[in-house]
Amino acid sequence: MRELTPNQIWQAVLGHLEVQMSRPSYLTWLKPTVGVSFEKNLLTIGAPSSFHSQMLESRMINLIQTTATKVIGTQCDVCFVVSGTTPQSPISNSTPGGSPPNRAARGPSPDYSKLNPKYTLDSFVVGASNQFAHAAALAVTNNPGVAYNPLFLYGGVGLGKTHLLQGIGRTFLNQGLNCVYINSEQFTNEFILSIQTKKTREFRNKFRSADVLLVDDIQFIAGKEAIQEGFFHTFNELHNNNKQIVLACDRPSASLKYLEERLLSRFDWGLSADIQRPDQETRLAILSAKAASLGSPVPAEVLSFIAAHFSSSVRELEGALNRVFAYSDLTSVPLSLEVATLSLSDLLSSSNKVIPSSDQILSQVASFYKIDGRLLAGNRKDRSVSRARQAAVYLLRENGEMSLSGIASVLGGRDYSTIRHSWTKMTSLLKEDAALRQEISAIQDFLNGA
Ligand code: ADP
Ligand code: MG
Repeated sequence: MRELTPNQIWQAVLGHLEVQMSRPSYLTWLKPTVGVSFEKNLLTIGAPSSFHSQMLESRMINLIQTTATKVIGTQCDVCFVVSGTTPQSPISNSTPGGSPPNRAARGPSPDYSKLNPKYTLDSFVVGASNQFAHAAALAVTNNPGVAYNPLFLYGGVGLGKTHLLQGIGRTFLNQGLNCVYINSEQFTNEFILSIQTKKTREFRNKFRSADVLLVDDIQFIAGKEAIQEGFFHTFNELHNNNKQIVLACDRPSASLKYLEERLLSRFDWGLSADIQRPDQETRLAILSAKAASLGSPVPAEVLSFIAAHFSSSVRELEGALNRVFAYSDLTSVPLSLEVATLSLSDLLSSSNKVIPSSDQILSQVASFYKIDGRLLAGNRKDRSVSRARQAAVYLLRENGEMSLSGIASVLGGRDYSTIRHSWTKMTSLLKEDAALRQEISAIQDFLNGA
């Protein structure tokens, strides 16, 4: 175990936990966690919010502890911190993608034709916000390469572009067509790798043999000249042979900055269809479909409650429903409006919570510890200043919701790793040191009152 990183250890433990609990519970509570450290048999796990870490602590600690002890092979303790570094939201799709381009040279290339089996055109709920895009998708599957080529789907995050794109792919796959689905980041990685390994011919062949090319998140190629060049040739070759191309993008093609003119004009050859935020009625329909697929009845008032409060994306809706399910599952309380309100309370209040500025936090800290505020950004290391500085790091992160590097810069351009160290130290100190907890909550009271 020694050579593994804390997160690798935790991932191994997660594997064992996953099979011991319901799917929604696992996705909601455990999937978004990370292994932060493993020292002296204490496994520290980072959760995305304090609500999250409380739930883990109060409801799952025993299961986690026993499982970790089994997997690691020695008695070990588990504690939770708020890490804010969740790698992926619990309900985001698990299709390949998301690895940064500079990882290109490492690892085997993913299997592009892998489509999420849940993303079909049938399971896509149609409403006013997406019916045009859905109709265009159907038209394309009925008449590939003819009607609308390329089809350019665009819309904000979590509104169903990937679902629709993969639904098109699934339909073609069922018709026996050779369908290549790729994220534009993967396209970039593959392209760079093919140049580095002198395999550009294989690269081109792979795409040349496609009957249908689906490229997700095309916005990532904007500004990357060599990649656009590679994509341009692939595009032309397929298009000239009447092969269907479907692109998904987070914004309309015209507002893709740094996209070459000639690519832009290619995109305009076909049809552009947008997906909007779902209206209340569509949100309800999506939630009902999703609840039905989870297999247990959800009271109508719970669905309306979620539909009323989560309106920015379908992904958010799904996340909220999953959370309610998982909460009722864990607490063994039947689903009700009350359970929904309780389990979603932190998400609901976070939308109208006021976040204090870094100046407000620093000046509260300075006045609480009775020191000159400028010392916080300075180098003095005497005890009182150090303690105040550590409190500041904690509060800037916890209350100010700042990134560690942002904190590093407001504290006089300190090193990022110093700040991270202070943060970890504070989170573990707070567990043992009741006086420190009191200090912090006193300052938090001032901040909330301010
Ligand atoms: P995007 O690619 O636009 O960011 P996704 O396609 O990943 O969004 O959709 C986010 C989640 O919402 C997925 O789980 C998807 O299945 C679901 N979803 C989005 N739109 C619909 C819809 N109209 N019907 C059913 N599920 C949907
Ligand atoms: Mg997507």
